[in-house]
Amino acid sequence: MVSENVKNIRHRIQSTCERIKRRADDIKIVAVTKMFSSQLASEVVSAGILDLGENYVQEFLKKKEEIHHDNLRWHFIGHLQTNKVKYVASNVDLIHSVDSLKLAVEISDFCLKIGKTQNILIEVNTSDETSKFGIKPDKALNLTKEILIRPNINLAGLMTIGKFSDDPEESRKDFKMLKEVKELIEQDGIILKHLSMGMSNDFEVAIEEGATIIRLGTVIFGPRQYTN
Ligand SMILES: *Cc1c(COP(=O)(O)O)cnc(C)c1O
Repeated sequence: MVSENVKNIRHRIQSTCERIKRRADDIKIVAVTKMFSSQLASEVVSAGILDLGENYVQEFLKKKEEIHHDNLRWHFIGHLQTNKVKYVASNVDLIHSVDSLKLAVEISDFCLKIGKTQNILIEVNTSDETSKFGIKPDKALNLTKEILIRPNINLAGLMTIGKFSDDPEESRKDFKMLKEVKELIEQDGIILKHLSMGMSNDFEVAIEEGATIIRLGTVIFGPRQYTN
C-alpha cells in the first residue's frame, strides 16, 4: 500500500529529525518511480508527494504524459547523455546528475536558446566505486566554478549515491564526504542549497549527515521488477 508506506516513511523521518534536532520540513522526499507504473506513481502523488524522480529519458517522457497534477515537480536522477539534454532540460525541476563540464555546457547552451533556466546538482562519486557515475570529490570545486560562469544554469547543490550495501552505516562516510565537499566549496563564498543523498536503505543515515533531498523508490513502491 503506497499511502501506508508514505505514512510510515514520514514517521521515520520525523523521529530521526527529532533525535538530531532538524526540521522534518527541511527534508524533501523525491519518489523514484523508475520501472514502476504510472498508476503506482499516481498513488504516491495522491499520498501528497509531489516530487517524482526518473532515471531514463523515454520512461520519463511517457510518465510525464500520463501523470497529471498541477503542482508536480519532476527530477531527473539518472545518467544523462548530452544528446538527450533537449528532452530533459527545462522539462524537469531539477537535474541531479550533472557529472561533467560537457554536460553542463550542453544544458546551459540549450536553455539559453529556449530562454529558460535549469536547476542542477553536481553528482559526486563519493564511494569511489567505478560502476558509478559522478565526478571525483577533488574535481567538484573546479566544476562548480565552471558552471557558475555559464548562463541559464543554476547550481543548487550536490548529489551522491551511497555505497551499495545492506548496512546503512556503510553509506555514512560517503554522505560525510559529500558534506565536506559542500563545505569546501562554500569556503569560496558559493552557497549550495541542497544535498541530495539517501535512498530506501540509508535515508535515515543521510538525514543525520545533512541531506535536504532523499530519493526513495522501493521503500514506497516495493521491489522493482527488472524485466530487461
Ligand atoms: C533508483 C534510484 C534511487 C531509488 O532507489 P531505491 O533503493 O529504490 O530507493 C535513488 N537514486 C537514484 C540515483 C536511483 O537510480
